[in-house]
Amino acid sequence: MGRYHASVCRLCRREKMKLFLKGSRCYTPKCAVEKREYVPGMHGQGRQKLSDYGVQLREKQKVKRIYGVLEKQFKFYFKKAGRSKGVTGAALLTTLERRLDNVIYRMAMAASRSEARQVVKHGHVTVNDRGVNIPSFSVSVGDVIAVKGSDKMKERFKAVLEQTKDQKRAEWLEVDAAAFKAKVKKLPERRDVQMPIQEQLIVELYSK
Ligand code: SF4
Repeated sequence: MGRYHASVCRLCRREKMKLFLKGSRCYTPKCAVEKREYVPGMHGQGRQKLSDYGVQLREKQKVKRIYGVLEKQFKFYFKKAGRSKGVTGAALLTTLERRLDNVIYRMAMAASRSEARQVVKHGHVTVNDRGVNIPSFSVSVGDVIAVKGSDKMKERFKAVLEQTKDQKRAEWLEVDAAAFKAKVKKLPERRDVQMPIQEQLIVELYSK
């Protein structure tokens, strides 16, 4: 299945929570989850009782949507997490946190992860002074991530920084907002993941 191009607010409403997919609008009363607290669709306002499988499936979909990852790539991350020494669910989330597009978002250099993905894909990001345009690039300890561009782009990034000034920056990054860059101080841990996620449900889903 390809990338989702319809209204992203429907995705939040489907998961019955804010996934923060739309930037500044997510922090305003215009947020669709605040206006309509029921899932989209004809039967959205009816009573919904999910099976155990349904609950696990929804949790997986939620995480995929938060990070903007497609099914095939998500399975790849899960397998990779399963091979790691730590707890699989936590390893899955910290692997997703290390994605370059997520790093740009957690630096508050983009208002949403999809905007961060565009910044990366359009060639505005360097890692250790080398251009990287792969949103899934995984950062490592000591990496220096910088956002570059023309004066016009820099003005735009300044505007984004102003817009995202209340957005919590990742503690595992040492951000120098004035220089549009950040250094990876340490790898993210489970507690660094901001969103409420029950990763054990995803492990149970894939373990069937
Ligand atoms: Fe989700 Fe943001 Fe839309 Fe609210 S405004 S429903 S948080 S994408």
